[in-house]
Amino acid sequence: GEEEGEEEGEGADSEGEGADSVKKASFALCVGVGYLSDPPNANGLAHFVEHMVFMGTEKYPDENEWAAFLSSHGGEDNGETDAETTCFYFDVHPNYLREGLDRFCQFFAAPRFAWGSSEREVKAIESEFQQAKTSDSNREAQVHAALIDEAHPYNTFGWGDRRSLVERPAAARVDMQREMRQFHAQHYSAGRMSAVVLGKEPLDELQLWALESCGAIPNKQTSRPRFSSGPPPFAPHRLPLEVRVKPLKDVRRIDFSWFVPSLQEHHRCRPAEYVAHLLGHEGAGSCLAALKAAGLATDLSAGLQEDTSAAAEFAVSVDLTPRGASELDSVVAAVLAFLGFLVRAGPQAWVQEELRGLAALRFKFAESEPEVDYCRRIALSMAQPFYPPEPDAVLSGDHLLSAWRPELVEELLSRLTPSSLLLTVVIAESGAAGDGGDAAGPGGEWQVEPWFDTQFRVCPPLSAERRSLWDEAYAGAGGGPGDAPWAALFALPKPNPYIPTDLSLLCPPPAGGADPSSKPSPPSLLESTQSGCVFCLPDSRFFAPKGVVALEIGTPGASASIERRLLGELAAKVCAELLNEESYSASLGGLGLEIFATPRGWALQVDGFSHKMAQLGVRACETLASLATRGDDAEVGEAFSRVLQQYELGLSNACFKVGDRAPYERRRVLEASFFHYDDMLRAVRGLTPQQLAGFVADTLGGGAYISTYLGGNVDAAVALSFSKAMHAALGSPPPLQQSDVHANTVMLLADEGSCWLVWAVGAKNPTDSNSAVETYWQLGPSEHGLSARLTLLEHLMYEPLFDALRTKQQLGYTVHCCARNTLQMLGFTVTVVSATHLPLEIEGRIGEFLASFLDSLAAMPATEFAKNVEAAVANRLQRDRNLAEEAARYFPEIEARTFVFDRAEREAELMRATSQSELAEWARRALVGDEARRLSVHVHKGGADPAGEALPDGALRFELETEKAKLSTWTQPDEPLPPLAM
Ligand SMILES: [Zn+2]
Repeated sequence: GEEEGEEEGEGADSEGEGADSVKKASFALCVGVGYLSDPPNANGLAHFVEHMVFMGTEKYPDENEWAAFLSSHGGEDNGETDAETTCFYFDVHPNYLREGLDRFCQFFAAPRFAWGSSEREVKAIESEFQQAKTSDSNREAQVHAALIDEAHPYNTFGWGDRRSLVERPAAARVDMQREMRQFHAQHYSAGRMSAVVLGKEPLDELQLWALESCGAIPNKQTSRPRFSSGPPPFAPHRLPLEVRVKPLKDVRRIDFSWFVPSLQEHHRCRPAEYVAHLLGHEGAGSCLAALKAAGLATDLSAGLQEDTSAAAEFAVSVDLTPRGASELDSVVAAVLAFLGFLVRAGPQAWVQEELRGLAALRFKFAESEPEVDYCRRIALSMAQPFYPPEPDAVLSGDHLLSAWRPELVEELLSRLTPSSLLLTVVIAESGAAGDGGDAAGPGGEWQVEPWFDTQFRVCPPLSAERRSLWDEAYAGAGGGPGDAPWAALFALPKPNPYIPTDLSLLCPPPAGGADPSSKPSPPSLLESTQSGCVFCLPDSRFFAPKGVVALEIGTPGASASIERRLLGELAAKVCAELLNEESYSASLGGLGLEIFATPRGWALQVDGFSHKMAQLGVRACETLASLATRGDDAEVGEAFSRVLQQYELGLSNACFKVGDRAPYERRRVLEASFFHYDDMLRAVRGLTPQQLAGFVADTLGGGAYISTYLGGNVDAAVALSFSKAMHAALGSPPPLQQSDVHANTVMLLADEGSCWLVWAVGAKNPTDSNSAVETYWQLGPSEHGLSARLTLLEHLMYEPLFDALRTKQQLGYTVHCCARNTLQMLGFTVTVVSATHLPLEIEGRIGEFLASFLDSLAAMPATEFAKNVEAAVANRLQRDRNLAEEAARYFPEIEARTFVFDRAEREAELMRATSQSELAEWARRALVGDEARRLSVHVHKGGADPAGEALPDGALRFELETEKAKLSTWTQPDEPLPPLAM
């Protein structure tokens, strides 16, 4: 009907695959209401309703029914509240879609809103907010919301927390239960919902099911709120406005915002995308290239930040060098000058034509994505007020560009001017310009934003002198480095040489179409020499002109010292920076390049359209090798300095969140060669481009063992000639025994018996109210039987753990368990991040949970156990959705030299063969019995003293600095290569 759209289908590349290829069935439902509709005394109400909708229904009154149904059929659900939309979605085993739809749609047809659960959901929202509070971008957005004119809907607080959902309403005598019911009654109407269902059944059947389930949702004939009639977010006389925001992290950034009328209705020509493409370009003649050459910036991004009926925000963000931070007005002038340059250049039809062609190419060869992501995206796109009514246009709506409306580009550009700019300077106190510096004018009073406690200040009106500097730059007259105006440095990009034109297939699909049930074939070994090995897997499933090349360049002693490790990292980053203008064009043309350091040397991956894949891979190898002789080259020197500045900030911000710190500290204990970010930060500061050159010369001169994987639109001949070309581009390094490459070595928590070590540290952010516990069990070297038991354990524990510690006890937002493979040593973790409980208390709750879980595992009805095993097996055997996933399955086997290409099949067989009593007894021995070797990482919230904490019974404090070296080690043995392909 008109009020509901139902669409079905896989990604656009799915024609070759039959119905059997649906791995999960999925459903998404989007309601056309969001936090812009929150009443003034109940901020966060839309988000609260999103949570409360799940609290039981008339047909299925038990609140846990849904979670239990999903987990026993391999499904997951989620919801998200945005400015004008609230989206709900789930996936499930394809055989259970109809039952899932029936249950899920009841949440919208007849929710009970059991008010007894409201306190628990307030806690859930409060934990979400405590995590969101540690993000600088969320904090900056809320400062903007506070500054926006009070009458504008953007002046709001959409997250919700205990203050906005309980305390303030209580003080204002607002009945939240009534507000919630009213909000739901007014906005949750079928006429304002869009839904997408995806399953393995034929369309007619899916449509019937959708009508059956969604049909019960009442249509209340209420219309969707539009916020377009009011005044703009900032009254014109308040602009330009300059604001300073104190970040939590070590950052140097300047953000430009322009609020313009909604662009939603122009989704088919997207003028903002055109402007962002040119302003955010990184090639020769771009704004970023000019800023880099002047030593002022390291990165620049541009695009629509927000687009609602109330207003669109066009944003530009520039990462500054220390020099850029002290010469802010030059940076501002450069961005304004580029906008002025675009106005004078006028709209370029050929640029839009290039964008249109690329969009069409990306859509035609789009890769399939997880079913639930696909449904969510389409449901959201259909919820846009101007979504196209034709069904096929619904699927392409996010992608294709059709119209060219130069007048809209002119109109948008005419609004991106100095006089309507909101400028936000975000510089940490340790940054070059002090507290955000007075380099660009005197400061106002520091204030505190009330929801996030962010410190900010509004600068006094722009001086006439600065104002004329901005205006001149915009007019193309001045403000540039030295004597030249910025505008003289700019040029429009050249036509993109990386747009693929050869889309032919080396391995075309068989005449009858591909057989989706055929067993995946493993990569075959084409060549093995002392210089390396070459594996190839020609496409037999996706039939797109795409490919993946992954290689690891193993070198001697890459992890022998902190300095060598750092130089390895810098070499990869400098190489990427030198290639950036080129790889940026390639990425626009659908070809990605990654190059990074590993403990064994370097790794490189190119993936996307195969036409120019070899060209880019060879360029990357050449560039890396060229570093050996370019120690005094000015271009390398400048790239080195930009990379170093970015790298230092990255190290300084490492593990800022307690949830990142906990796994980091675990790996720090477990991995024999592990360099801590503080030590790396100290050691990196003195390094020079000359040392880098010496290191690269030494390393490649000392030999290399290169492991190569090629997949997709390649054949054996192409693969071999490509690997030869890359070897030559690396300067033909001499052969190296694979055994001379760094081996995987891990620390053993105990030589025999059981142990429980606690390694406690403090949060990096002193204002962080979250604590984290990651408790880890070391289980033994990687082996199929152990791996099978571990996969079953993870599957069986995941939902009960989440249900007990998050849903019922509301310990915190993050609660999960995970099987771990640390350098081929298997283990298991349980992780909790909590804003309300300290590590020792969390550990106690984990202990209680484990005891009851182990009992219930042993006592579980045999049929339920069997059902869980089948669900876990089905997950394990899931086929890869695209070439990149396929490469991510096989290349690690080559890198780690394990070469088990049918790992999933072998483990699945052993999972089926594992009996319930065998699993339950093993889990008890391994987790709490006399074989339990356990390491708990405790990250204490800001300001707490980790050393003063009492320990759980039976645990010993671990002092990493003195005790790690005393642990025994285990090193993964090398496996022989598989036989050569004939
Ligand atoms: Zn939420």
